[in-house]
Amino acid sequence: MGKLDGRVVFITGAARGQGEAEARLFTAEGAHVVLADVLDEQGGKLAEELGALYVHLDVSREDDWTAAVAAAKDAFGRVDGLVNNAGILRFNELVGTPLEEFQLITQVNQVGAFLGIKTLAPEIEAAGGGTIVNTASYTALTGMAYVGAYTASKHAVLGLTRVAALELAGRGIRVNAVCPGAVDTPMSNPEGADPGAIEELYRTLVPLGRVGRPEEVARLALFLTGEDSSYITGQPFVIDGGWLAGVSVL
Ligand code: NAD
Repeated sequence: MGKLDGRVVFITGAARGQGEAEARLFTAEGAHVVLADVLDEQGGKLAEELGALYVHLDVSREDDWTAAVAAAKDAFGRVDGLVNNAGILRFNELVGTPLEEFQLITQVNQVGAFLGIKTLAPEIEAAGGGTIVNTASYTALTGMAYVGAYTASKHAVLGLTRVAALELAGRGIRVNAVCPGAVDTPMSNPEGADPGAIEELYRTLVPLGRVGRPEEVARLALFLTGEDSSYITGQPFVIDGGWLAGVSVL
């Protein structure tokens, strides 16, 4: 018995990173997974490997959502789970951030999550209820210098999570957020960065002494998508190796 037997779960940004790990784990746990991304080649290959469905989806476009959900329903008849995982990150000092960059990050991270909830909540309700897991961040709960637009967008994702949980509980839908710290994916490993320096950074910065693994975030998303979290809604779940716990002075 898998923890998601018979479920149909739509995962955005599923071509790589945490979304890929979630797609792999959810498939192994018996779900029919719909992988959505803008990286069509990578996403298509992964879906083929998993025996899943790949759909092209730019999360910031409402017409893309409509088409992608129609394709998912054609394939599986319904959707009863959503993981809003797609996101982008840019580094910039707040006062030096071009408006276009701020708007792009907002559009993908915040508007993308909003459109996912808006498009899929009625489908999940029609399927008899289910779950939505939004991917916020450690930066949904605290500030981080030089990622101002990203931080603002992730605070917004947490706000959306709480409001959606309140409004959708009566419709049989639980809504929670994962809040990862630093996780070893292409987002946190810019090309050309020295792996030794990155390892050393997290060894000193994070109480558990290392960067997180996408598979660890996937296990949290599984918990929030499956029955093990049946009485939980509207909550942020920090997964950060203890980074947010506080500071150490010695
Ligand atoms: P990643 O860059 O490896 O994966 C992000 C995925 O989202 C990619 O497949 C990308 O193609 C897709 N994507 C980007 N823009 C999109 C769009 N407009 N429409 C559809 N798909 C789009 O990064 P990741 O670390 O796996 O990130 C997954 C989520 O986790 C993001 O929301 C990110 O903000 C969040 N997060 C990551 C970390 C980290 O340290 N890696 C920490 C906290 C939160």
